[in-house]
Amino acid sequence: MKDQNQNILIIGAGLCGSLLALRLAQRGYNITLVEKRPDLRKTEQDAGRSINLALSDRGLRGLRLAGVEKDALELCIPMRGRMIHDASGNTFLSPYSGRENEYINSISRPGLNMLLLDAAEAMDNVKLVFGHGCKKVDLENAAAIFKDYESGNEVQYKGDIILGTDGAGSSVRRSMYEHRKFLFSFSQQWLTHGYKEISIPPAEGGGYRTYKEALHIWPRGEDMLIALPNLDGSFTVTLFLPYANSEYCFDTLTTPEMVHEYFNKEFPDAVALMPNLAEEFFGNPTGPLGTIKCSPWSSYGKTLILGDAAHAIVPFYGQGMNASFEDVVVFDEVLDRFEGDWEKVFQEYEKVRKKDTDAIADLAVDNFHEMKEHTASALFQQKRKLEIA
Ligand code: FAD
Repeated sequence: MKDQNQNILIIGAGLCGSLLALRLAQRGYNITLVEKRPDLRKTEQDAGRSINLALSDRGLRGLRLAGVEKDALELCIPMRGRMIHDASGNTFLSPYSGRENEYINSISRPGLNMLLLDAAEAMDNVKLVFGHGCKKVDLENAAAIFKDYESGNEVQYKGDIILGTDGAGSSVRRSMYEHRKFLFSFSQQWLTHGYKEISIPPAEGGGYRTYKEALHIWPRGEDMLIALPNLDGSFTVTLFLPYANSEYCFDTLTTPEMVHEYFNKEFPDAVALMPNLAEEFFGNPTGPLGTIKCSPWSSYGKTLILGDAAHAIVPFYGQGMNASFEDVVVFDEVLDRFEGDWEKVFQEYEKVRKKDTDAIADLAVDNFHEMKEHTASALFQQKRKLEIA
């Protein structure tokens, strides 16, 4: 039997946690949403942490469910196809679909996160707490210990249940791992490549320096550059490069001269668009790329993990956030069927959901090899065929 007065503690107010908080508040639950970082609506953003993301129909379904799709679409730029850049600077646009209304969207991560936080905060039954990092979860009692970074004190928050949406490095998942030991399976696989973000600023006098409505790709076999458009006329560029064991890798690109030599050799048309290349290369962090799978996602019918905390994937299908929003849709559907019995809800949710998140995790790794190695050759052959015909 559903109890309207139940309290849900959600840990992690990123994309998944803030959408989940909004949706569960709409269903009538009392929500406390606790986030490690300061409120991103009031502080400056970290540079170089996937500033924009590809939002597809799967993700939009989650936003639609919570009534925020229309507002989110206002933050979007349609990307109608992949713009491939070859090593000589030739470009070729490969549409995602023959139909005008089928495309993916580029959206700002902080913009979308802020929209979701605003919508959640507008609900009477949502309390937001920032600057509190979860250290440990008491899985049997749905209580969690947080460090309050302002005072330095430890504080406890408790709910009838806990939902962990604290991302790939999840502390909720770590508590499951430490407490359940061999009853909790966990795997983490890293790619040999890392990523680094750089920007293409808006054109002088406004507008975009290259074609706006595309996901740009510079595939070079071992490494790859991609760029997604932002509303202000800039693009966020991401370099995927091996960490080591290659002539050009993060280990060898240690001076501005080396960075320019590498980019001039591999991506000469992109260099012309990036006036702050070396400065941003050394100023922005290098991020690792990994896949996390684990099971079970819940403990004692009291705690469940969702989003990247349960299934972090590499970004080559642009589906991590989309899958995390889809988690909210599936969780909502399972709640419709089993509301009132959390243990049943958690078990059924994992049963329905895990095979799909395992599948997209594997597809995303496959698409890494496809994008960096095969897109250029396949598309240029296709273009040549069209030119000959
Ligand atoms: P997160 O967004 O990581 O949010 C977790 C939140 O929990 C954060 O706010 C964090 O500060 C907080 N937190 C962490 N630890 C604690 C703690 N101990 N206590 C309290 N709070 C905590 N996905 C797409 O769909 N499309 C894309 O184009 C795309 N591109 C990507 C590009 C790159 C380079 C990368 C790395 C990822 C990309 N993704 C993309 C994946 C996407 O970023 C993630 O799947 C998505 O952010 C997952 O959302 P989440 O809310 O589960 O986790």
